[in-house]
Amino acid sequence: MAKLYIVATPIGNLEDITFRAIETLKSVDLIVCEDTRVTKVLLDHYEIHKPLFVINAQNESKKIPELIEKIESGINCAFVSDAGTPSISDPGTRVVNAAVKNGIEVIGIPGPSAVTLALSISGLPTDAFVFEGFLPQKKGRQKKLQQLAEEERTIVLYESTYRIEKLLEEIKQYMPNRQLVIARELTKKFEETWRGTAEEILKDFEKKIIKGEFVVIIAPKEFKM
Ligand code: SAM
Repeated sequence: MAKLYIVATPIGNLEDITFRAIETLKSVDLIVCEDTRVTKVLLDHYEIHKPLFVINAQNESKKIPELIEKIESGINCAFVSDAGTPSISDPGTRVVNAAVKNGIEVIGIPGPSAVTLALSISGLPTDAFVFEGFLPQKKGRQKKLQQLAEEERTIVLYESTYRIEKLLEEIKQYMPNRQLVIARELTKKFEETWRGTAEEILKDFEKKIIKGEFVVIIAPKEFKM
């Protein structure tokens, strides 16, 4: 019986991939990805030449049954997302559920994820944390921020270039005294980390143009750096 491999890929630096991930990508019959342009950069770097099959939010209801049929017919497949660990604020969950429902064995190939990397360099408590990914953009956002202001564990959020300042302004409003760690462009050329309250970090942001991908970590209520 063919298998489905869920393979973690780099979150920036192409060298951050395990030997096992590369071996898996080289050994399967088909690589399932979100965007062929993104995945080809990685595959070209490692000289991996395999057919690609695209599953994304737009086509998944049609393509997931096709993928299941392929695996059932004996085709071993690896599933990758654009960056990091599939299913973590990324596609993967629906594919895994469909495979499990159809009795297909799912094997995880671990590797980078922005959430664990940022936590590991944060210096904040990691014995218990809550990962919220991207906050809702409109409906429910204020309510979620109010709930998070009461949260006693370390909080991890994802944010993009376009909304990072808005998010910091909101944290300043709802959690003014909390210590934050902001990690930008982890593993990439312009990697940078900020530590302090939202107000302190916003002051630094005013001095330059801040772009990139961000992990925002909020310390537990009573935590002092
Ligand atoms: N699956 C990915 C993972 O395992 O981390 C997450 C994909 S999610 C669509 C993209 C978001 O993850 C970005 O907007 C950012 O919040 C975070 N992220 C991904 N790569 C990052 C990096 N190199 N540095 C900082 N944050 C990153």
